[in-house]
Amino acid sequence: MSKISQLQEIITNSDNIVFFGGAGVSTESGIPDFRSESGIFKSLEKYGDTPENLVSHSYYIDHTEEFFEYYKENLIFEDATPNPAHLKLAELEKSGKIKAVITQNIDGLHQKAGSKNVLELHGSVHRNYCQICSKEYDLKYILESDGIPKCECGGIIKPDVVLYEEPLNNNILSLSIDYIQNANTLIIGGTSLVVYPAAGLINYFNGENLILINKSETPYDNLATLVINDAIGEVFSQIKI
Ligand code: ZN
Repeated sequence: MSKISQLQEIITNSDNIVFFGGAGVSTESGIPDFRSESGIFKSLEKYGDTPENLVSHSYYIDHTEEFFEYYKENLIFEDATPNPAHLKLAELEKSGKIKAVITQNIDGLHQKAGSKNVLELHGSVHRNYCQICSKEYDLKYILESDGIPKCECGGIIKPDVVLYEEPLNNNILSLSIDYIQNANTLIIGGTSLVVYPAAGLINYFNGENLILINKSETPYDNLATLVINDAIGEVFSQIKI
């Protein structure tokens, strides 16, 4: 049986699936991973610093203007649209098979595709709050602001995105753990599973089928029921509901 047929069979027979995705889920929507090799090269060349440092809490505090310049240029892709992976996951939720989508991405593409129960571990570029009065602003406002986005009260508007050195939202993290612990099937896609929190979350899974879909191998391949080394949109476009 081909790997796609195996995946199809597992999905057909499972009604309690949780999906956990990383940057690779959005690359087929034209959103490059800013921590990739070319992302690092670009940031070193233009800003003399690594992507991790440029989107860190201390950089945001000490170099707010440069932070927003880098952020707007490298982390926001306003015109990106959902790819077949986002769309199929939304359909699987609608049919009752998928209980939650847990994502490390901040682009909001799962919601754009129609998914309702999306747990955004690293926040979203679509939510932004004034640091003084907490007023909420949309992405358009951030993009249209010159330099540092400011609230009408004068406060700086901070994206609801988890920066390096900042803790994850505890509610979202514990909800994610709950879903993973109770899932029968866990599909992990577009992540090499080497960085926190992905690597930690997988350990909570006790269910029947662990499926890994990633272009390259991961340290967890030997634990998986099924490993597919391919682009995730390509894989999901072949799945029928
Ligand atoms: Zn304000």
